[in-house]
Amino acid sequence: MNHPLRCRCGTLKGYVSHPEKVSRGVCYCRDCQAFAHFLGTTGDILDEMGGTDVVATLPKYVTITQGVGALACMSLTETGMLRWYASCCNTPVGNTPRDFKVSHVGLIHTCLEDPPRSLENSFGPVRMRVNTKHAKGKPKLMPISTIASVLRFMSSLIRARLDGSYKSTPFFDPDQGTPFVPPKVLTSSERERVMNAV
Ligand SMILES: [Zn+2]
Ligand SMILES: [Zn+2]
Repeated sequence: MNHPLRCRCGTLKGYVSHPEKVSRGVCYCRDCQAFAHFLGTTGDILDEMGGTDVVATLPKYVTITQGVGALACMSLTETGMLRWYASCCNTPVGNTPRDFKVSHVGLIHTCLEDPPRSLENSFGPVRMRVNTKHAKGKPKLMPISTIASVLRFMSSLIRARLDGSYKSTPFFDPDQGTPFVPPKVLTSSERERVMNAV
């Protein structure tokens, strides 16, 4: 069953297919925390230890059905990940590599809230915790399931590369290999501001 994706204000809508194929994890890295500060709604994004609950999947499983014009993209640096969000209400959508041949999107839980169905119901439990050294506290480590999830996900990513299905993505023009929305790269002073807020 597809799981709905939507921004807080409802302008941007879509869905995630094959929710059983995702790997769910929490990332505590400083860049993910800085992205939440950039959007200005950290309370809706970060958990009490500064973690972002991320549903990692292939972009081909993400479909945007409405409000694609609201989709915006930023990056903390010239070479950093592309961080997608709905500009209408600053809801984070997900992170993708700059190279779309690396068929990955880490969807951020905020755009997947669908009460009464929980993320747990659709996507299963958190199986990996990464960059825990930047957590504000001591998150429970789960090394075995983290490695298993990463390996499982890497193999689906390699398959998407080989069979060409990486070209099916709502984030990139498949002919040019460029993002549909040019990323706004933060200036050094903007970056300093959000990194200092972490
Ligand atoms: Zn919105
Ligand atoms: Zn991160």
